[in-house]
Amino acid sequence: MKIDVSKLGQEPRRFNEEFSVEPDRLDCDQVTSPMRVCLEGEVRPNNGFFTVAGDCRVEGSVACSRCLEPVSWGVDEGFSVDYRAPAATPLDAELGLDQDELDVAFLESDTLDLADLAAEQILLALPMRVVCDESCAGLCPRCGANRNRDGACTCEPEVDPRWQALAGLAGEDHSS
Ligand SMILES: [Zn+2]
Ligand SMILES: [Zn+2]
Repeated sequence: MKIDVSKLGQEPRRFNEEFSVEPDRLDCDQVTSPMRVCLEGEVRPNNGFFTVAGDCRVEGSVACSRCLEPVSWGVDEGFSVDYRAPAATPLDAELGLDQDELDVAFLESDTLDLADLAAEQILLALPMRVVCDESCAGLCPRCGANRNRDGACTCEPEVDPRWQALAGLAGEDHSS
């Protein structure tokens, strides 16, 4: 859903939308399938800004950071973001001074896209790492097989290159 902020009056505009956010809107490798989003809240004109506040509920799955299998993940959190519409720019000097203190996002056009807002909330909430299980054995670094599965592969265990260097030294012929 898109909201044309230039058409907003002084009254808050409520929204209650359900949609999905495609992984390509999320600049992150963890998300490989669409996320279901329920976004509820309101857009409030606020002295040349627009405050968008409400509740963002997300359900989906993210890739296990070891084996890449999908792990269900979701979040249900309140949010409040201030936007400044392009018509309100350029900032005057007075506002410019305060700019660092203001946590304001700038709209590139008069359109506020709720899917962009949801994508931002998802990225903020995503943990750095998610594992399917603390004991997840991950992928074989040689052939990429999922080592949680029985008989995934028959690769030799990866040898630490530092040990390999030592083994090489030990094997050298020092007699000559
Ligand atoms: Zn895993
Ligand atoms: Zn392997």
